[in-house]
Amino acid sequence: MNDNSPNSWESRADAHSFYGFTDLPTVKDRGTIVLTHGKGPYVYDVHGREYLDGNSGLWNMVAGFDHKGLTEAAKAQYDRFPGYHAFFGRMSDQTVMLSEKLVEVSPFERGKVFYTNSGSEANDTMVKMLWFLGGAEGHPKKRKILTRVNAYHGVTAVSASMTGKPYNSVFGLPLDGFIHLSCPHYWRFGKDGETEQRFTQRMAQELEDTIAREGADTIAGFFAEPVMGAGGVIPPSEGYFQAIQPILKKHGIPLIADEVITGFGRTGNTWGCETYDFVPDAIISSKNLTAGFFPMGAVILGPDLTDHLQAAAEAIEEFPHGFTASGHPVGCAIALKAIDVVMNEGLLDNVRTLTPLFEEGMARLAENPNIGEWRGKGLMGALEAVADKDTKKPFDGSLSVSERIANACTDQGLICRPLGQAVVLCPAFVFTPSQMDEMFAKLERALKGVFADVA
Ligand SMILES: *Cc1c(COP(=O)(O)O)cnc(C)c1O
Repeated sequence: MNDNSPNSWESRADAHSFYGFTDLPTVKDRGTIVLTHGKGPYVYDVHGREYLDGNSGLWNMVAGFDHKGLTEAAKAQYDRFPGYHAFFGRMSDQTVMLSEKLVEVSPFERGKVFYTNSGSEANDTMVKMLWFLGGAEGHPKKRKILTRVNAYHGVTAVSASMTGKPYNSVFGLPLDGFIHLSCPHYWRFGKDGETEQRFTQRMAQELEDTIAREGADTIAGFFAEPVMGAGGVIPPSEGYFQAIQPILKKHGIPLIADEVITGFGRTGNTWGCETYDFVPDAIISSKNLTAGFFPMGAVILGPDLTDHLQAAAEAIEEFPHGFTASGHPVGCAIALKAIDVVMNEGLLDNVRTLTPLFEEGMARLAENPNIGEWRGKGLMGALEAVADKDTKKPFDGSLSVSERIANACTDQGLICRPLGQAVVLCPAFVFTPSQMDEMFAKLERALKGVFADVA
């Protein structure tokens, strides 16, 4: 598998590329997979091997890897106007049109949009907006940010501080003032005998207690993914958002929905907040926004934050923030096309059509004695490996069970992602039912092989 000869793609990758979020022992052992192209939901490596990508790239390539409409939109815009910024009172026509479209498809009756190059930067920008607002409105202490354990909000110093994962301690993060509430994962964190309803009440009580302890006048905002993604695909416990939103409202704390994964169809509706029946104060979008064809993020502000931020900016005559490529015309043209493709060319419908098949496949694999639960929503799901199904006891960490499953899948020609002791699936919206069958058949063989070795 791993070609160690000095001119192999594997060796060349190792020689000059510094890996991020990569299990280095696995790479050492098996070599980097160097890819050349894709077709529909399949990708191909330098040796001509085909892989069904069960993760849509990194959640984002929802229209597959060769969507002609998207590549045509990109080419046409590169020919017309290949780059511009959005500073100093200038912006491209594409930027104007995308903002209109994003507000139109948002759950807000009106609003405004600010662009970034990534989801991390969009979260970072939202935090700066909230800090700016606190200062401008005479509440300079209103700076603390509430998120949850297992949340994933990105990797910049601020968004990593919001991310509730232990690995950030290697950077000396989180920064002060970033508070992580409990993860609303009932199966894992529910107490003996506690109903799901009671569990949700406990989550809400913790929020209430935290606000009382810290002081509402010190808290700038609460950020939440409608379904936690990189934390292991964790849908909220029943009634979670209905329980917490009134508490936040009562204390004047904005609720920001990080819809970087859930936005544009992943859970079966345009927005995850639609699926979970709440309207946040702002939405963070990225990933699917361009169907992965361009790096872009967006902060979509609801009416209240729009009005307050507009007034605060006018008071000092500008909002001193922005990225060189914010609102890039090619990114905007691609996003406009991607939104159209997802919403009007049958992709969102296909998510709904495929969801029952996805759920059936997951439920069938979850019958395995070493799968503790399957969880998910729409076309995002996870299978949690356990050493003991009754006690939910995880495997010994040294077994690297989810890495083994992912590697066994790769051997079968399927890409899926290990996350903790879970394996994550989030197929592209262009999957066919037979590709769904192919994904589950390959995963089933991989699971059987690995559990026969470790269980
Ligand atoms: C991926 C992700 C981010 C970060 O986006 P980047 O483009 O990688 O910076 C933020 N929030 C959520 C929910 C994500 O899944």
